[in-house]
Amino acid sequence: MRILTSLLLSLAACTAAERPNILFIFSDDHALQAISAYGGRFKEIAATPNIDRLATQGAVFERSYCANSICGPSRACILTGKHSLINGFVDNNSSKFNGAQPTFPKYLAKAGYETAVIGKWHLVSNPTGFDHWEILPGQGSYYNPDFIQMDGSTKRVEGYVSDIITDKSLAWLKNRKDKNKPFILMAQHKAPHRNWVPAERHYKLFDGMNLPEPETLFDNYANRSDALKKQAMSLAKDFWWENDLLLPGESPDPRFRNGIVNGEFKRMTTSQKASFDQAYGAENQKLIDDLAAGKLTGEEVTRWKYQRYIKNYLRCVRAVDENIGRLLDYLDESGLARNTIVIYSSDQGFYLGEHGWYDKRWMFEESLAMPFLIRWPGVVEPGVRSKALIQNIDYAPTFLEAAGVEIPDDIQGRSLIPVLKNAGVAPADWRKAIYYFYSGEATHEVAAHDGVRSDRYKLFHLTKTGEWQLFDLEKDPQEMKSLHDDPASAEVLADMKRVYQELSAQYKIKTD
Ligand code: CA
Repeated sequence: MRILTSLLLSLAACTAAERPNILFIFSDDHALQAISAYGGRFKEIAATPNIDRLATQGAVFERSYCANSICGPSRACILTGKHSLINGFVDNNSSKFNGAQPTFPKYLAKAGYETAVIGKWHLVSNPTGFDHWEILPGQGSYYNPDFIQMDGSTKRVEGYVSDIITDKSLAWLKNRKDKNKPFILMAQHKAPHRNWVPAERHYKLFDGMNLPEPETLFDNYANRSDALKKQAMSLAKDFWWENDLLLPGESPDPRFRNGIVNGEFKRMTTSQKASFDQAYGAENQKLIDDLAAGKLTGEEVTRWKYQRYIKNYLRCVRAVDENIGRLLDYLDESGLARNTIVIYSSDQGFYLGEHGWYDKRWMFEESLAMPFLIRWPGVVEPGVRSKALIQNIDYAPTFLEAAGVEIPDDIQGRSLIPVLKNAGVAPADWRKAIYYFYSGEATHEVAAHDGVRSDRYKLFHLTKTGEWQLFDLEKDPQEMKSLHDDPASAEVLADMKRVYQELSAQYKIKTD
């Protein structure tokens, strides 16, 4: 009997030892258009070779979507595996995450995993379910960031935020308390979130280059709801002189907004600020001189803003990519790579000038999409490109199944493991559409809406006006014309409305 018990115990220990580690590398507002594994117009100019390592060695999901395209809500969906109206974190302005509710880190901790989150958290309440956490307050800062500690104190660390989050993640990996335990580490970047201040080593990246513009930079919002015109996220009218464009002092021209200063400049040391001024000074002065001389038309001003914005955004992405390389190198060197699932994702996509916008929120592809790349040696075949419709509510059940933990019935997402084990092909009973919800918080004045997206079609419902918008993503991938009142699309509209009702009911969403 004793021999049998000891045999069973060692078998259990062996199984436990083989449970995979999970390294969840996450960023903020990183659009697919700015990841070379997804292609796009920056594929050659601003490649992301380290993120692309995951694509070469694992799988890329090409139809990966968020359930609510803003920072806090996306994170709450990930932790709980539930839609916003169910997990209670609905928007960034009024919600506070209820840390008493079940989350996947809690289930993993209970199953013997060591759990940690380092970097951006943005859920107002402090993390629960983690053996270790160290988080940025709110949005955090690029330069010399503060980190909230588990004892409630705050520590400022000199340097650049993406490097520091990686330093801390590497230190945690190297100094784990019990290396026999499997782990989950969530290494969560602030970058490339607004207001885009690059690392000093990247200030001159893309200097003198004219980066490609999106075809829809000057979208006039014809053939779609008037709600599209009523946002506050356009490059032409809503970019702040200092906050967004890193220009000095006050704007001398009404085509640039004044009033929000860039807090990063106040955080920089004297030498950091001098280095920034040295790098950006000449280009800033040329703009100021050109504006004073009346040289720039409205379109030229928008183009200038786009170039300044996209270069700083891609410079911030470069630091994220380099730091992902550092983590992957460590997994290789330490031997952990063999039994560690590595995921790269970001809380939602972003407009990189498409439709004339920056920011997110709308259910259009650029901000609805989330990057999702996964490497899992022995399970995910290298080089898989999956077209399965997946969503951030699927991450929690995936992690639970990977760890051998039973998935609770109230989790709304589905484990991706059947898809992962089948070369990215979804099983026959997989979802046919995803559900999306946006509350319409005051920031950026984007109208409240929800909707569904299938393989081919997207249906929006604008909550206040009751308007419908229907897009055929095959014929109109840039979503320039709604077909909701096109008689030839009446059948598709009826089908998509039925899908919308079904998913609203399935997810227990209250629709007024
Ligand atoms: Ca975000």
